[in-house]
Amino acid sequence: MFDKILIANRGEIALRIERACKELGIATVAVHSTADADAMHVRLADESVCIGGPPAKDSYLNIPQIVSACEITGADAVHPGYGFLAENARFAEILEEHEITFIGPSAEHVRLMGNKIEAKETAKTLGLPLVPGSEGSITNLEQAKKIAADIGYPILVKAAAGGGGRGMKVAHVEEELDAALATARIEAKTAFADDTVYLEKYLAHPRHIEVQVLGDGEGNAIHLGERDCSIQRRHQKLWEEAPSPALNDGERAKIGETVAKAMRELRYRGVGTVEFLYEGGEFYFIEMNTRLQVEHTVTEMITGIDLVIEQIRIAAGAPLTLKQGDIRFNGHAIECRINAEDPRTFRPSPGKITHFHPPGGLGVRVDSGAYAGYTIPPYYDSLIGKLIVHARTRNECLMRLKRALGEFVVDGIDTTIPLFKALIAEPDIADGQYDIHWLENYLA
Ligand code: ADP
Repeated sequence: MFDKILIANRGEIALRIERACKELGIATVAVHSTADADAMHVRLADESVCIGGPPAKDSYLNIPQIVSACEITGADAVHPGYGFLAENARFAEILEEHEITFIGPSAEHVRLMGNKIEAKETAKTLGLPLVPGSEGSITNLEQAKKIAADIGYPILVKAAAGGGGRGMKVAHVEEELDAALATARIEAKTAFADDTVYLEKYLAHPRHIEVQVLGDGEGNAIHLGERDCSIQRRHQKLWEEAPSPALNDGERAKIGETVAKAMRELRYRGVGTVEFLYEGGEFYFIEMNTRLQVEHTVTEMITGIDLVIEQIRIAAGAPLTLKQGDIRFNGHAIECRINAEDPRTFRPSPGKITHFHPPGGLGVRVDSGAYAGYTIPPYYDSLIGKLIVHARTRNECLMRLKRALGEFVVDGIDTTIPLFKALIAEPDIADGQYDIHWLENYLA
């Protein structure tokens, strides 16, 4: 097992990883930018190293500084969390070159799944069902028109390097295809320095359902059920739940086993998420995330398994001790992303938190680095915490969530809490009747 882990991240996820390390008896090193000197993840770590200025490229994305911090502190492994360097294959390789373990899959798998075109090709060979689309990238308008006509409109232009919902544009009719290609390319070039795009059938009313997997890299892999992440704004998740209100036990077991089998074949190592769109009773693979996800918590609540502890054990070379038959799904869990944003316009709302009172009680979990007196810096993602609620049934879970939201006090800044209070009162939410467009329609 590792003696000391450096956490190359910030905010709630850095805290989450510190908690797992502490329970495993592993020392922790926090890294931080000058803007995060007072952050909770720095305070709660055993050691900390300032690695640069506020912009992420100078600090949380600064690979030489992070490697130096490992060498100064003697950390033998790095946990990248999510975002920042979590899906950077070169980072994984550089760490290995310095004999530091990257807590994640092989660099080869990170690279493979980081390119969505290659990911889809791999998924196809592994027997996963795909969204109909172009085979490979789009090089010119004529080719795009031909493929789009074959697939049928509406068509979604997607960036091969995509992430965070960027580089995605819909063309409802052929006349819109040229502009959609151009805009998606510009967005992709700006965000990912790679303007490769491909086409997919734009599904009208799908749900986003993803399967959590755990593999040991030796050909053993299990699934931990699914999460429904259909409540989204601009392709960004805001509310996630497990199990999905749309699946029955048979469908759940079938998609879970299909994915676990694919991961065994791939000899996948670590935690990962295989994402699908689900429409008309069918699953369509869209991408795989080779890291821990924000919403891993709902899976933890219903399985009782600490995914970060499992992830660290596997990275340290331990075999997968959990068997598929050991996995039991208990009750229902919902996560709400508490963002420092205006709940109507979603404009970021950085600034000082004057009062902070998180909810508590049975089945209530708050993962957050926020506290009264903390000033949210304007440089990073607006996620300041996650409220996760667990109960025996979905109805009880909704009632508990309503109660917990009512207790939650965050003063001084705007947050998404009022939005969730409003959602709880919606009959569609109560009935679990929503697709990926539901929230945008509701907000409009
Ligand atoms: P990213 O990596 O940017 O998150 P994804 O491929 O995971 O991109 O897609 C993010 C979201 O975009 C999905 O959850 C879904 O809401 C929407 N989306 C992606 N592909 C399609 C599609 N073919 N049809 C309809 N919606 C899609």
